Amino acid sequence: MKVKILMFFLRILSNKKGGLILEPRYECNCCVCQHRFYASKSIFQTWGDHEHGMGTCPSCKTVLNLTFDPDTNEFITKIWIDFVNERNVANG
Ligand SMILES: [Zn+2]
Repeated sequence: MKVKILMFFLRILSNKKGGLILEPRYECNCCVCQHRFYASKSIFQTWGDHEHGMGTCPSCKTVLNLTFDPDTNEFITKIWIDFVNERNVANG
């Protein structure tokens, strides 16, 4: 539940600044269909909170969690609902 509210807020923030700032884009590999695409960091990820990214695969349309990996400069993808379920277990 907490994660849902956070992601809703994140989407408002990212829509607001959409188009105003040219952000660097990083590669992702869809964990469902292996399609490679590009995404930019969420505002939380620019602050170093690497797990808080979200995106939709342009090929299979799966909603994904995008965790930024600073070692490879790529996003690691995970099916969104799996990420939320893991989070809920971790947070009790
Ligand atoms: Zn996909």
